[in-house]
Amino acid sequence: MARTKTPWIEGALCPLETPRFLCDEMLRGFGEWLRVAGYDTISPNSGTRDRDVLETAIDDNRWLITRDRELLLHRNAPQYVLLLESNGMESNFRELTRRLNLDWLHAPFSRCKRCNTPLQPGPLPGDTPEINDKRVFCHCPGCKHVYWEGSHVRRMRGKLLRFNRWRYPRRFLPATSPLNGVLPRYLPE
Ligand SMILES: [Zn+2]
Repeated sequence: MARTKTPWIEGALCPLETPRFLCDEMLRGFGEWLRVAGYDTISPNSGTRDRDVLETAIDDNRWLITRDRELLLHRNAPQYVLLLESNGMESNFRELTRRLNLDWLHAPFSRCKRCNTPLQPGPLPGDTPEINDKRVFCHCPGCKHVYWEGSHVRRMRGKLLRFNRWRYPRRFLPATSPLNGVLPRYLPE
């Protein structure tokens, strides 16, 4: 599937379609947070060759998020590779937010943060809604992990909200912008 040209829209640098991601091996933790925010995000099996990782991104129409500059040397890479240039996890979160104007409250807790499967409401079939006095609010049909409301989930929501403060305020980027179809470079503040 060919990547459609990114149409710029008012208030967003993100493609109109919901972006999908492939986080390279070094950024697995990063991928977890994208899944918490509800984005379809996968990671390669350990040891997968760069070329195969890139091919998966192309076949699947995903942004390949990496800190590995060498990935950019492959053919077609510039269209699919989103190279994080800032140092440190926190700065990387901010960089991605800024470059895609990513909405971290896109669909929180709609995907399993472990395996990317869309979550289902309620406990696992046949289970009670209570586990250790905690109420299960959804479960993963893929890896059978259950999610319950509690301080952990509240903390995660808080973190997503904090990431969203890095988004741009609404602003207009004209359709004729020379940036059209090209990811803006990240300029650290
Ligand atoms: Zn799962």
